[in-house]
Amino acid sequence: MARQRHTDIMNAASMGHGKKPSERDSKICVACGRPFSWRKKWERDWEHVRYCSDRCRKAGKKD
Ligand SMILES: [Zn+2]
Repeated sequence: MARQRHTDIMNAASMGHGKKPSERDSKICVACGRPFSWRKKWERDWEHVRYCSDRCRKAGKKD
C-alpha cells in the first residue's frame, strides 16, 4: 500500500500543517515600498532579500 501512504503525505502537505505559506515572513521592498512575501526561489537567501523583484533590485542598486 505504498500508494496509499504517498497520498497521505501529500494531503498532510497541502493541508498546511504548521505554518501556512502566507504566514511565513514577509518584507517591504526597499525600492517600491510594497510588501512581498517569501518565495520558493528565495528559500536559501531570504534573509538577504530586500527587493520584491529583479526589476526593483536593479532600480535599488542604482541609487
Ligand atoms: Zn519592489
